[in-house]
Amino acid sequence: MEDWQGCPRLGTWRRPGTDVVVLEARGRAGACVLQTTLEDGRIVQLGGEVIGESHTSYRGLVGELGLSLVPAFPALPGVETTVLNSGRFLEDDFGWMGDEDRASYSRVEGEFAALSRQVDVDDPWSHPEAERLDAISVGDWLRSVGATPDVVRSRELAMAALGAESVERTSLLADLRKEAAVGSPGFYNYDHWEAERVAEGSATVALTMADELGYRIRYNTLVSTIDVRPGGCSVVAASGELFDCDSVICALPAGPLRRVRITGVSDERLKSLRRHRHALASKAVFAYPTSFWEAQGQNGSAYAETGVLGGTWPQREGVLSALVPPERLAPLLASAPALVEGELIDEVVKMFGEPAGQPIASFLRHWGIDPLTEGYITAWRPGDVMAVGPLHGTHEPPFYVAGSDQWVCGYMEGAVCTGRAAAREALRRG
Ligand SMILES: Cc1cc2nc3c(=O)[nH]c(=O)nc-3n(C[C@H](O)[C@H](O)[C@H](O)COP(=O)(O)OP(=O)(O)OC[C@H]3O[C@@H](n4cnc5c(N)ncnc54)[C@H](O)[C@@H]3O)c2cc1C
Repeated sequence: MEDWQGCPRLGTWRRPGTDVVVLEARGRAGACVLQTTLEDGRIVQLGGEVIGESHTSYRGLVGELGLSLVPAFPALPGVETTVLNSGRFLEDDFGWMGDEDRASYSRVEGEFAALSRQVDVDDPWSHPEAERLDAISVGDWLRSVGATPDVVRSRELAMAALGAESVERTSLLADLRKEAAVGSPGFYNYDHWEAERVAEGSATVALTMADELGYRIRYNTLVSTIDVRPGGCSVVAASGELFDCDSVICALPAGPLRRVRITGVSDERLKSLRRHRHALASKAVFAYPTSFWEAQGQNGSAYAETGVLGGTWPQREGVLSALVPPERLAPLLASAPALVEGELIDEVVKMFGEPAGQPIASFLRHWGIDPLTEGYITAWRPGDVMAVGPLHGTHEPPFYVAGSDQWVCGYMEGAVCTGRAAAREALRRG
């Protein structure tokens, strides 16, 4: 074993007497953070990308790895673009709405913020009305507090642009908890969630950690069974290979985890774990020589209700990212593969005009149907927060859980903070 004292970063797992092996089904590190390099050298993210100021675990990790954060798209000049079935609107803050809608939006957002402040991020189940708040969808709640139809529509557009599930299928309690987690003064906003990005590329975070772990990562090792016993655990790969260990930290996303046989963990814990679900999304990326939209007064952020893309945001100079939300994934998958690229580019042309018709490269990644991801971010339908219950994110030593689903709502912050917490707990007990 190497000298642990020579390892200042990520060093806890190198404590004397402790070692770790990471079993990874893919042939690469990073999973749903993934990047590629354009011919001109620009690095382009095909998965997770941006973070918010309150994502302290992730920010800390970036610093430890010697990487840097730079402002992301919310700081860019220009106005937002919205493509509705009635036409294209270039105006910020849902400028296409009327005065009555705007007043309604501000009022219900205030009510949402007030409710959100009552939710304990770590224990939403303790809210006196947790069951009622979880049973109602965000859409039903908006209508119940008098939101106009266009306010509900604006929230639906925002969820689609995020690649999240519809407001009609999102638990109010889950949404309140999510905003409470970042201290947001209202509905999801980019300043709180998406203000920064890793200058070297978010996938570089995972690749740098993988370099450090070196041979301790076993690639192409699909876990099929985890047997947990008080004195030790066994993990069996699909190849039949057996790994004996003191503790297991299970960091699989909700979908792939359902296919792993787990014994020795209480039914209650497993039931809670298996109740998670993801929003199934695809990501598209369009690369151009320059950010041509800026000369048109557009900031590159768009919301769209007419196609399968929920919207776009500028990932970096000349590069637009876009998500296909779960509600629109089936129409995307129904298209003949030969037509898909052209259809998606036509949608971007509707947002940004003819120059958008000539990308120098475009990418499409179906994360929602990738068998080792089956998703994007955690989705909480009405009733899900109570069904998963207070065991969410908890450990049953020597079986520990980590991964973004064990945090409030997914995200890279969730992966890092739960990973650190699980490792700390396993080392403390171990
Ligand atoms: C398109 C897209 C855009 C996103 N954008 C953002 C963003 O801008 N900001 C943000 O914060 N978050 C974003 N996210 C979410 C974020 O990337 C994820 O929440 C986070 O990376 C998940 O990390 P994880 O470690 O929990 O899970 P994963 O990264 O999914 O890692 C799980 C690992 O388990 C492996 N695995 C699965 N099954 C098995 C098995 N049986 N045996 C062994 N290994 C297995 C997988 O191969 C994978 O490597 C985005 C996600 C996607 C898909």
